[in-house]
Amino acid sequence: MIELKSVSKWYGPSFQVLKNCSLSVRKGEVVVVCGPSGSGKSTLIKCVNALEGIGEGSILVTGIAVHDPKTDLPNLRAKVGMVFQHFELFPHLTILENLCIGQEKVLGRSKTEAEAKARSLLERVGLTAHAKKYPGQLSGGQQQRVAIARALAMDPVAMLFDEPTSALDPEMINEVLDVMVSLAEEGMTMMVVTHEMGFARKVADRIVFMDAGEIVEVSDGDSFFDNPTTERAKSFLSKIL
Ligand code: ADP
Ligand code: MG
Repeated sequence: MIELKSVSKWYGPSFQVLKNCSLSVRKGEVVVVCGPSGSGKSTLIKCVNALEGIGEGSILVTGIAVHDPKTDLPNLRAKVGMVFQHFELFPHLTILENLCIGQEKVLGRSKTEAEAKARSLLERVGLTAHAKKYPGQLSGGQQQRVAIARALAMDPVAMLFDEPTSALDPEMINEVLDVMVSLAEEGMTMMVVTHEMGFARKVADRIVFMDAGEIVEVSDGDSFFDNPTTERAKSFLSKIL
């Protein structure tokens, strides 16, 4: 579903932010990406839907070369939904409108069709009562659930999450993680940057540990937590667990 082949990237002439990163994510797989701050996790995940360019290597999503200039980016970004730390909803649109705009503008759905899809997704994330409100009237946890629903409205083949709960008050973290767990259980292909190690242990098929722009370890969840193989992973885990 997602294939990174020897991806390297530089910011400016001399700072190499990604170093020869390779990773294949199979359909239905949940991959958690973790590592110290500044290790390149956000950059890596943004490269997958071409929010960032790459210097060397290639990235394929369902066989489409993401960084090929001929690739239709709005369509690619519909296929690969992304949820950020800060919810990035359109503040001047209602929740319902936030869920419809991409469906209408990118996928060409009619307003009726888009609204029906939006309402079913709002029900799924438990926000039916808030359809007519604006993002600023919702809590952080509710806004993040809207952001997930908005990405799902595009019928993505995969979802990318970049620290989706780290800007939330603690009592709102679980309502967002619960939606992500249910998505994972339904077989959504997911790449998730998170420090929520309970979530990682529960749903990750594999854990990718990054440090200083490199993918240092890729292992299944239990072996990563119980037997990290590198000193760098051990040191990281000792700080967060
Ligand atoms: P992480 O998400 O793991 O914290 P990032 O991918 O955000 O790491 O950043 C990796 C490194 O690249 C950091 O040193 C960061 O300061 C640097 N960086 C991120 N974005 C840019 C940018 N647009 N220009 C220059 N340096 C950047
Ligand atoms: Mg980051």
